[in-house]
Amino acid sequence: MISHSAVDVIRAKRDGHELRDDQLRWFLAGYTAGEVADEQASALLMAIFLNGMGARELATWTDAMIRSGERLDLSRVPYPTVDKHSTGGVGDKISLPLCPLVAACGAAVPQLSGRGLGHTGGTLDKLEAIAGFRTTLTTDEFVGQLADIGAAICAAGDGLAPADRKLYALRDVTGTVESIPLIASSIMSKKIAEGTAALVLDVKSGHGAFMRDRDDARELARTMVGLGEAAGVRTTALVTDMDAPLGRTAGNALEVREALEVLEGGGPPDVVELTLALASEMLSLAGIDEDPARALADGRAMDRWRAMVRAQGGDPGAPLPAAPMVDEVRAERAGVVTAIDAMPVGVAAWRLGAGRARKEDPVSPGAGVVLRVSPGDTVSPGQVLAELHADDEPHMRAGAGAFRGAVTIGDAPPPRASRLLERIVPR
Ligand code: URA
Repeated sequence: MISHSAVDVIRAKRDGHELRDDQLRWFLAGYTAGEVADEQASALLMAIFLNGMGARELATWTDAMIRSGERLDLSRVPYPTVDKHSTGGVGDKISLPLCPLVAACGAAVPQLSGRGLGHTGGTLDKLEAIAGFRTTLTTDEFVGQLADIGAAICAAGDGLAPADRKLYALRDVTGTVESIPLIASSIMSKKIAEGTAALVLDVKSGHGAFMRDRDDARELARTMVGLGEAAGVRTTALVTDMDAPLGRTAGNALEVREALEVLEGGGPPDVVELTLALASEMLSLAGIDEDPARALADGRAMDRWRAMVRAQGGDPGAPLPAAPMVDEVRAERAGVVTAIDAMPVGVAAWRLGAGRARKEDPVSPGAGVVLRVSPGDTVSPGQVLAELHADDEPHMRAGAGAFRGAVTIGDAPPPRASRLLERIVPR
């Protein structure tokens, strides 16, 4: 490989020039190998943050991140493979019913997931609320489970896009997380390395999302769809609303319970709507002509959930953990619920113990928020708006403080809105 000076690469990006493919590959390989220093990578990240990346630069950067580790080979899975990735929101438990649902319709869903950080929850933390559930699988176990039952959700191994792990840790402490090219390459390098043939992205927009602004969410979605297609992964995206929390629960076991309601054919309408929309999108990319609503209604999705939980060491019949303390938040006046703000609900669940501030922190399986009202509901003074679940008094106090102002009561009902805002397909 041609040798470059890291300083020359940083200067070029700083001065607004497009980096050549050989510069991008050299820098990333050097950083992953520990030959380019953290402070030099930080400077380049900031230059990218400020000056952006062109489409070719971004495709090369993402490809170099994928090549920094292994790319899984799913060729022994006898079903079309299709995954979903959400950019994260409050109460987003969709992966739990979605993965077995899509598997029940004939595809395999190779889902490598993450843990929660800050106000958004993580799928692995939710699944670990189930007694015995193992979120660490070997590659052989993961691929074997996909071949057997078509559904597996576990943590990504260290060998997958290691450059992203190093870069993400650096971005976190250098104010360079909120950059569309850096977010898109980070997410897509991991999803492409996972080996899926097709991918549906759920890009959240609104108060409780990474991308508060709808235009930014659309641009992120377009950028990621472009990267997927460039890497040969059929990719589409739905831009979905995250102003209000998804469903009625935020917290690990509480969200598992809500996911089970969906698999039993019930559940909150918005969770069902989004689960079915994403399932239809995934099945269409997989070339499978099945109505996912039927697989929910006739119990096939629930059967597949149980099979997945058992395969990963969990007991699908075991009672879910519950926090010992439950407090109620009550309405101070009569009126109509005009809004429920995802951000204070997410922060409250986190402070109650469901989330973590640092990635090594433990989480409480039982803590979180249960909303007892939805936007549009009429309430009377003293009516219960929400339950707060915590393991102890300090967590309860912190959660109650964070929840303040989450529910707005007014006089006129808000317009009924769908979660689905836009669909982005390859150009
Ligand atoms: N999730 C990721 O994996 N990477 C980002 O940069 C942001 C969200």
